[in-house]
Amino acid sequence: MTRDQAPPYEAVVFDCDSTLSCIEGIDELAGGHAEAVSELTRRAMDGEVPLDEVYGRRLEMIRPDRDAVDRVAARYVETLVPGIKEVFEALRAAGKRISIVSGGLLPAVSAVGEALGVDPSEVFAVDLYFDEDGAYAGFEEGSPLARAGGKLDVLEAIAARTREGRIVLVGDGVTDLEALPVISRFIAWGGVVHRDEVHQRSCCSTDGPDARELLPFLLSDAELAGSSWSAPNA
Ligand SMILES: [Mg+2]
Repeated sequence: MTRDQAPPYEAVVFDCDSTLSCIEGIDELAGGHAEAVSELTRRAMDGEVPLDEVYGRRLEMIRPDRDAVDRVAARYVETLVPGIKEVFEALRAAGKRISIVSGGLLPAVSAVGEALGVDPSEVFAVDLYFDEDGAYAGFEEGSPLARAGGKLDVLEAIAARTREGRIVLVGDGVTDLEALPVISRFIAWGGVVHRDEVHQRSCCSTDGPDARELLPFLLSDAELAGSSWSAPNA
């Protein structure tokens, strides 16, 4: 059963791929394996196959080196969703603790966190290893975010350190829905990709395309009134 509690929240959590940034990092990395990888990603995000099966398989196909991951980091930042910087500024001004929880690759997702002013300790993603020459040397196989159900574990840990456990999550994929049992509100973000199942299972949703459309779901009226928030031009 999806619960929905109105703001204010203590913590605001965002997915990364197709939520903060308009790309799916793994698809950008895929190169010559683009079609096979993107099909696997779509099946995972649509909930057709469990993430655990897909994760290692995609990376073994691609074997991304350090340069490739750096390029994805730059692409993530170049393709930030319109209005998202203003959203983060408004949330910070309202004193919110902001986290990014992603099944993407930590060295690349960290660049998004940096661009949006998120504390590095609040960026949760799957780490990647390289040898001295920068060649792929494996990924953090023990990361909860590389397996199904992992977003729930990470959101549970975030909930455990908030006073009243009032957390709101913004995301676009089925894996984001895993967190429903421990969050106060889930907002389905369709500004990049609109997935019917995700929208149907959320109490709040918007297709943007400007991320500032999210603010009325994230902040209370009093918090909004005290912020410099302005509605995007229609
Ligand atoms: Mg996503």
